[in-house]
Amino acid sequence: MYSRWMLRSLIASLLATSAHAAVLPEIQKSSAWYSNAEQVINTKLQQNTKDKAKNVILFVGDGMGISTLTAARILQGQMAGQSGEEGYLSFETFPYSAQVKTYNVDAQTPDSAGTMTAMISGVKTDVGVIGVDEDIERGNCATVKGNELVSAVELAEIRGLSTGVISTARITHATPAATYAKSADRNWEDVSDMPEAAAAGGCEDIASQLVNFEKNLEMRFPGIDVDGIEVAMGGGRRHFLPKDAAFNSADARSEVEGDRTDSRDLTAEWQATYEHGAYVMDKAGFDAIDPATATKVLGLFNESHMQYEADRANDIAGEPSLSEMTSKAIDILDNNDKGYLLVVESGRIDHGHHAGNAYNALNDTVEFAKAVQAAADATNPEDTLILVTADHSHVFTIAGYPKRGNPILGKVVAVGSDEPSLASDGMPYTTLGYTNGRGFADLGSETNADAIYGIDPNAGRKDITAVDTTTPGFHQETTIPLSSETHAGEDISLHAKGPGAHLAQGVVEQNVVFHLINQALGLLND
Ligand SMILES: [Zn+2]
Repeated sequence: MYSRWMLRSLIASLLATSAHAAVLPEIQKSSAWYSNAEQVINTKLQQNTKDKAKNVILFVGDGMGISTLTAARILQGQMAGQSGEEGYLSFETFPYSAQVKTYNVDAQTPDSAGTMTAMISGVKTDVGVIGVDEDIERGNCATVKGNELVSAVELAEIRGLSTGVISTARITHATPAATYAKSADRNWEDVSDMPEAAAAGGCEDIASQLVNFEKNLEMRFPGIDVDGIEVAMGGGRRHFLPKDAAFNSADARSEVEGDRTDSRDLTAEWQATYEHGAYVMDKAGFDAIDPATATKVLGLFNESHMQYEADRANDIAGEPSLSEMTSKAIDILDNNDKGYLLVVESGRIDHGHHAGNAYNALNDTVEFAKAVQAAADATNPEDTLILVTADHSHVFTIAGYPKRGNPILGKVVAVGSDEPSLASDGMPYTTLGYTNGRGFADLGSETNADAIYGIDPNAGRKDITAVDTTTPGFHQETTIPLSSETHAGEDISLHAKGPGAHLAQGVVEQNVVFHLINQALGLLND
């Protein structure tokens, strides 16, 4: 005789088996939200988890925090006529991602020198120093010796891989510099930036270290033979040329383009070292490079940083875009059967934010996503690990309750309304804003965010009722007045695809990035 509870559980289990699929109402099963999310999991079930890669490409969006990704993704969609929120930046569809802690050894909110040193050497270090560990004293040349780290780019060279470093910032700026230089101060970009004691003490400026990379590495490790960085492209010509107008390039902006006070012309030195190499300084020179035969390329496309993507058409002699540089670099580096390590930085996302100008920060992020897509298209997912990350975030917020599809650069318009919402002070407000910085400016069609530095800071609330906040020249309001908007201390993201990508998981310290590269390429294997 069955007890009553046994009977009840028998009936319950019979009902359950037949009810599993049927329990979902049609509105749930047929919802695109439901089926699209289910597809995400099905795709993950198919993923390959190979460990070893032939090539690694590390993309760094300088200052590209999570709010920058969200806002840029919405802008990208809205530029294509969509609502925006539902889309993805190219690398946001990569199968693996991690959350990354960015602090420097001595700083809660980090800078690019310490963060890139961590990513490319596996060791966290102090703010403001390049390629050296925390035992350094910033600005003290005498403390460099014995504290130099070895970067993944150097290890790749020693292993016979081809290497490339690309940036839209000066190629001597903190992020690219950390791949090839050792310096007690990120600001020692050329000899005129160094205290006399540092130059006299035997410290070499960053531009000189780029040109002497091969020689210096071979001196550090007697017996090894490397062939030097194959592709280096970015801005920063002023640090390579003598302070003499006779050395000005065709698109010099200053009366005297070069800054070097030691009369050295590093572009000529580089050409003398690599007689089959191509030194180029404009778009025409860039276009003339044949990637099938090029062995060495040094491209310095601007006196200082390269243009913002939105401002690129205004360059005097023309510049390639970040995606064009990325594609060409891959075409050159993949001539090496042993593989390559390429580092690509979008340096000006950070600069747009520092200027309090979301328009340029986001447009450069969209171009950065295009460069990642170009790399994905030009490589084999079976042999190339692509890592995409940032070095740190910015105090950049997406706020208020704008309705779905509201222009991301616009004023907040609430759900159910067609008019801008008014704050407690009776004035409209933008969705995007900065906690600190120079504050409001309406520079209309100005596409150079740095134009703000010629204008007095203007923090606090402003009446923007009659202002079009979606123009390139609009600078968002801010609360705390500072000469430049600052970095932020919260975590950033890491996105990965290709062999070894599955190791990018969880919440990790930033120096784990080096170990992802090292693991995939086996840089230290016997
Ligand atoms: Zn910065």
